[in-house]
Amino acid sequence: MILNILFARGLMRRMTETSIQPALKSVRRALLDADVNLDVADALIDGVRRRSLGREVIKGVTAEQQFVKAMYDELLDMMGGGAPPVGGNDDGATGTTKANPASLGSSSSPAATLAYRGPNGPAVILLAGLQGAGKTTAAGKLALYLKEREIDPIAVSLMSDDERSNTLASRMPRRNRRVLLCAADVYRPAAIEQLEILGRSIDVDVFSMGTDADPADIARLAVDKARDGGYDTVVVDTAGRQVVDEELMEELRRVKKAVRPDETLLVVDAMTGQAAASLTAAFDSAVGITGAILTKLDGDSRGGAAVSIRGVSGKPIKFVGVGERTQDLEPFYPDRMASRILG
Ligand code: GDP
Repeated sequence: MILNILFARGLMRRMTETSIQPALKSVRRALLDADVNLDVADALIDGVRRRSLGREVIKGVTAEQQFVKAMYDELLDMMGGGAPPVGGNDDGATGTTKANPASLGSSSSPAATLAYRGPNGPAVILLAGLQGAGKTTAAGKLALYLKEREIDPIAVSLMSDDERSNTLASRMPRRNRRVLLCAADVYRPAAIEQLEILGRSIDVDVFSMGTDADPADIARLAVDKARDGGYDTVVVDTAGRQVVDEELMEELRRVKKAVRPDETLLVVDAMTGQAAASLTAAFDSAVGITGAILTKLDGDSRGGAAVSIRGVSGKPIKFVGVGERTQDLEPFYPDRMASRILG
C-alpha cells in the first residue's frame, strides 16, 4: 500500500519497457558483437527483461544502469559465478575422486579446479578438441600449472604490485603435483615431438609410443606407468580433426573407456565465437565433457564462445589460454569475461 503511494507520487520508480529499452538494445548489440549465439543472446536478455519489469529502480541509478547490472549478473551466473563441483568424475566410473584442498583454485575462480585422487592412483585429464585449437599447447600449460610448487608467501608479500601481477606465481595457484604427459595424437607426428619438447622445457616426463600404436593403448599404458611410477596426474593429449566427425568421436570414446578420465576437457579456440555452441554440443553429446579450456584469448576474440560453451553444456570453463608460452594459462574468471563481453 505504502509502496503504491510512493510509486504514484513519483517518489519511487519502476523499471518499464520504455525505461529499459535503450539499455536492452545496447546490451543486445554488445552480446552480438561479442559473437554470442543469437538465440542464446535473446534468451538471456528476455530472462533479465522479464525479471526486471516492474522492479523498483534503486536510488541513485537509472533504470538503464540497473538493467545492465542485472544483465552482468546474469552473465556471471551463467558462466559459473557460483562454484561448480570440484573436479568431478563425469561418468561415476571410479567414484574415488577427492578434492584436495591444495588442488583448489583461487576462490574468485572456483572453476580452476582439477580432479586429484591422492593415493588412489593418478587423476587422468583427457584433452579433446579440433585440430589447431591448442590442445598440445594446453597439455604443456596444464602440466606446468599442476606441477609447480607454491612459492613462499612471504616472498610474494614483499613484491610490489606490478611484480606480483607479473609473476607467474601470483597468477596461478601452484599444486606441486607429479605430472606425466601422454602423447596420444598419433596422426600428427609433429604433435608428439611438440609435446616432448614442451615436456623437456618444463621438466615434465612425456609418455609416447610413436605413431603406430593405438591411442587407447597409449593412454592406458601411460596411466599404468603413472601408477607404477608414483605420478599423481596424467594429462592425455589426443588427436584433433579439422571438423567434428564420427571417427574422431569414436576414437575419443575408446580412449575414454580405456582410462576412465576424471576430467574430459574440451579445448576450444576462442576465435570460434558462436560456432563454439555446436562444437560443444557435438563433443558433449558424443563423448561427455566435464569442462573446457578456452584458448587464444590474448587475440581479438570477444568472448562469445565462453557464453556458448556454458550455455550449451552447463559445464564450466576451467582455464583460459592467453598466449603461446607454457606459462600463458590462467584460471577462468567469469567476472572478467562478463565485463569483456558487455564492454
Ligand atoms: P592442437 O592441434 O589442438 O594440438 O593445437 P596446438 O597446441 O598445436 O596449437 C595450435 C597453434 O595455436 C600453435 O601455433 C600454438 O602456439 C597456438 N596457441 C595455442 N594456445 C594459444 C593461446 O592461448 N594463445 C595464442 N596466441 N596461441 C595459442
